[in-house]
Amino acid sequence: MLITNVDKIKQYYQALLAKDQHYIGVFYAGVKTTSIFCIETCRAKKPKFENVEFFSSVKEALDAGYRPCKICKPLKTQMKHRQKYLKLSHELHKNPKQKYRIHD
Ligand SMILES: [Zn+2]
Repeated sequence: MLITNVDKIKQYYQALLAKDQHYIGVFYAGVKTTSIFCIETCRAKKPKFENVEFFSSVKEALDAGYRPCKICKPLKTQMKHRQKYLKLSHELHKNPKQKYRIHD
């Protein structure tokens, strides 16, 4: 969904500026002036606060008319993220008692 919570938007924008890897897969940033969306670790020039909106999934960014950035390739990153997640849930299934850290 489109993120409308002001506190979250501010938090995500800071993560975008900081290229904070902890937010990979958490949000996608759509740049209104270019109609391109990025992940937060993208090395492209960061948009101004008023020109960016945040989505919680790739699909919503696409549905809103944004194109994936050619530099950070959000679709590829999403796929990698999902594979990691699937692997993790598979391992959890094998060893339900073992604890995993979120960012392993
Ligand atoms: Zn990008």
